[in-house]
Amino acid sequence: MVWRIGKGDTVKFWQDRWLNGRPLFEQDGILQVEDVTCNVSSFLKGDWWDIDKLRAVLEEDLVQQIICVPVGVNGAVPDAQIWGPAANGLFSVKTAYTLLFHGSEWPSYDWHFLWKLKIPPKLQIFLWLVFQGKILSNEQRVRRHLVDDPACNYCNWPVESILHIFRDCEKAASVWQAMLCPGAHPHFFQMDFHPWLRSNLLSKAMWGDHVPWPLVFVFTCWVLWKWRNNQIFNIDNEVSYEPEKIIVAAVREWYTASQVGGTKAPKMPLLLTWEPPELGQFKLNVDGSRRCASGSIGAGGVIRNSLGDWVSGFAVNLGKGQILEAEVWGLFFGLQIAIAKGIRRLSVEMDAATAVLLVQQHSRLGSHPLASLIASCCAMVRQIGVCYVSHIYRERNAVADCLAKWSHNLDLGLCVLDAAPSWLGSVLVDDLLGVPRTRWVSLASG
Ligand SMILES: [Zn+2]
Repeated sequence: MVWRIGKGDTVKFWQDRWLNGRPLFEQDGILQVEDVTCNVSSFLKGDWWDIDKLRAVLEEDLVQQIICVPVGVNGAVPDAQIWGPAANGLFSVKTAYTLLFHGSEWPSYDWHFLWKLKIPPKLQIFLWLVFQGKILSNEQRVRRHLVDDPACNYCNWPVESILHIFRDCEKAASVWQAMLCPGAHPHFFQMDFHPWLRSNLLSKAMWGDHVPWPLVFVFTCWVLWKWRNNQIFNIDNEVSYEPEKIIVAAVREWYTASQVGGTKAPKMPLLLTWEPPELGQFKLNVDGSRRCASGSIGAGGVIRNSLGDWVSGFAVNLGKGQILEAEVWGLFFGLQIAIAKGIRRLSVEMDAATAVLLVQQHSRLGSHPLASLIASCCAMVRQIGVCYVSHIYRERNAVADCLAKWSHNLDLGLCVLDAAPSWLGSVLVDDLLGVPRTRWVSLASG
């Protein structure tokens, strides 16, 4: 689905698909993102686009594409979702299916660790754009015919690459000289771009007494990027030039605030076991799996009776896609097998909270991309008779988790397992004996 802009007050400027069929922050030519959740309407002025505001955050090329997008005259037309890939804006099952499996292309390298870094969300987004090559150096801007000269505007080095901006430019190098602890980063100025980013972001080193080095590293990169843009786009010629002070102040402020906000909430271990269904009932556990590096998805599941005996199981390799798709397909195939076995009383458990929520709220899904798949699942739930879908912690779902991961070894398609595979032995026995798996839960209020 893509958005057709009307008032622009319900469409997210950075996150929704309203330009070129992709979220704006997946596109090339972004200068900075201050608020990732803002609406399109915050970039409108009167009846038209606020061009100055657009230019402050996007390169000219994107600005020009955006101002061609018609916006609701006098704010009279509401925003509307239309079915993008079919030319007439109407839904078709075929395009839905094509999108489901081929619509989302992800880069093959693993940048998911970014979301785990303890840095401000704004800087996570900035780094994500850097990793995806969405911010442009002069070298890349020449390639895209946005400028003629690839040289660095500051030191006149003939080619301004991303690495030049962040590290090798005279200006950047002098900032790093001030920030680096002597001897702590021996190959800092020799590494290639991605290894350099990664090793600094994942470093366990401390800066000064107790501030993690990755935090200092990210703030420094960000400040270097902002200064470079200020200079190129003449947003502010009088750039203050006391880099260390600015960076150190920003780092300390955020670090102190995040420490206070996150004072270690006490945690306690929760001992979780798989629980067999009641006598005469069956239990289906399902799970999905996605490999970050390749984007491959798969699912798996198992049906057991009240004695914990294996009734049936499956693993399915689903090609490429998103984790939520894997989880809902897992539910789909699990229910299908339960029906084939003639099961009339079934308790379904999965650890994917979102998938469970979608099933419980299926009547309100509207044009959600997975709406038809979820509707099929709900129809099967009704066909079974007594059937409940509930959410459990991952620690209670170990067998399904193993099967889902195993699905990546299979060829595309469904593999039904009438007997338990021998390699699952110990996990199944643990479930049967009620051996607990530990989950640490926070005791913080709320
Ligand atoms: Zn330079």
